[in-house]
Amino acid sequence: MKKRVALVMIALMVAVAFAVAVKNVHSINAKLCTNCAECEKVCPEDCISEGVVNGNKVRIIDPKLCTNCGECVKVCPEDCISEIPYDKAISAKANTKAETKPAAKPAAKKK
Ligand code: SF4
Ligand code: SF4
Repeated sequence: MKKRVALVMIALMVAVAFAVAVKNVHSINAKLCTNCAECEKVCPEDCISEGVVNGNKVRIIDPKLCTNCGECVKVCPEDCISEIPYDKAISAKANTKAETKPAAKPAAKKK
């Protein structure tokens, strides 16, 4: 009996690990985004915000909050939102800056 419970537990753990590994989210192609904010208005998770990519203001999606519902895709006039693997979205977000992030203070001058 104990062996059977252990096997069920292992199977559940493998299933959860697989589900996490194949999780997809939505991502915005910063090269095409015109920053119109239509996607942000419809996102039920409030996970789209303005950011800066390669010096340009665009909308970005927080992959940790996106539930992959696809509502943003329906309203984007530029057709620049698509589904990508979660891991890829996490590395892409690392290359963006949140618009609200305060600028670094200049170093104090030595006298
Ligand atoms: S797929 Fe859904 S949850 Fe994710 S960013 Fe688009 S609207 Fe928001
Ligand atoms: S709707 Fe499309 S073009 Fe407009 S901000 Fe969102 S991703 Fe960019």
